[in-house]
Amino acid sequence: MERALITGGAGFIGSHLCDFLLGEGYEVICLDNLITGSTDNIAHLLGKKHFTFIHYDVTKYIFIQGPLDYILHFASPASPIDYLHYPIQTLKVGSLGTHNALGLAKNKNARFLLASTSEIYGDPKVNPQREDYWGNVNPIGPRGVYDEAKRFAEAMTMAYQRYHKLDTRIARIFNTYGPRMRKKDGRAIPAFVDQALSGEDLTVFGDGSQTRSFCYISDMIKGIYKLMVSKISTPVNLGNPDEISIKELAELVLKLTKTKIKIITSPLPTDDPKVRRPDIKLAKEKLKWEPELTLHDGLKLTIDWFSKK
Ligand code: UDP
Repeated sequence: MERALITGGAGFIGSHLCDFLLGEGYEVICLDNLITGSTDNIAHLLGKKHFTFIHYDVTKYIFIQGPLDYILHFASPASPIDYLHYPIQTLKVGSLGTHNALGLAKNKNARFLLASTSEIYGDPKVNPQREDYWGNVNPIGPRGVYDEAKRFAEAMTMAYQRYHKLDTRIARIFNTYGPRMRKKDGRAIPAFVDQALSGEDLTVFGDGSQTRSFCYISDMIKGIYKLMVSKISTPVNLGNPDEISIKELAELVLKLTKTKIKIITSPLPTDDPKVRRPDIKLAKEKLKWEPELTLHDGLKLTIDWFSKK
């Protein structure tokens, strides 16, 4: 049985990854300091035979007994309001946390997969974004704590690959949504769905013409897994190339929840990217992966889950 360690395993993507790997027959060790993750996301796994949860902060030296085949480094606050609440922790987990997780991978001779992000590209000057685009990031803006930590994390991962010959993978994850997102995590989909279900006005930031491309969680997890077991050691974009404006997204949520509440606008956050869309040619060709669920279907599943919460 292969053993995988998932940092941030009690988070949104991390917990779905725990489920998936257990289903594929891996033993899973989940580390999380629970500042933005929650044991609610893994409650159904606690006490299961091949699952271990360790409440731990990966910015501290990590000690794990026994062999490890994979380390999937997913620990990090991941929403713009979380970066504002936890700017130092965000920087530390992307830098010190990545260094510790890489050190552990080297010790155990494990394959390392970094959860990187489309934020690497900042407010991009090219659309869609291909892996060879270097990005347009403001290092000192409020989002800089996340963007720069992840850029450092990619640089550190490549240094371990080149210098220590560590076997590494880098997933550049674009906007992902689905069950287990926190209602109040501040991101567009949980915010709009929560507002629609509780009869509050939908808050579109700016004029809503900024675009994003949203990938449903089950598609994302399959992509991450395909990358994990692939031979591709350069960064790979994972996301849904179906681009939509935030205003259209708000309208779609209203339509699917059959609510007639208002869309109100509030100021656009600093450095909010104007466009974002992944070029997924590399993932399509090399991983034989592309998202299957439409935004319409994924949103219906998400609304269903939020309405039962
Ligand atoms: N957004 C919005 N209303 C909200 C939350 C977000 O209009 O209540 C906008 C936000 O300004 C951004 C887009 O939706 O342009 C996506 O934001 P999110 O926080 O989901 O992700 P990110 O900006 O990291 O892509």
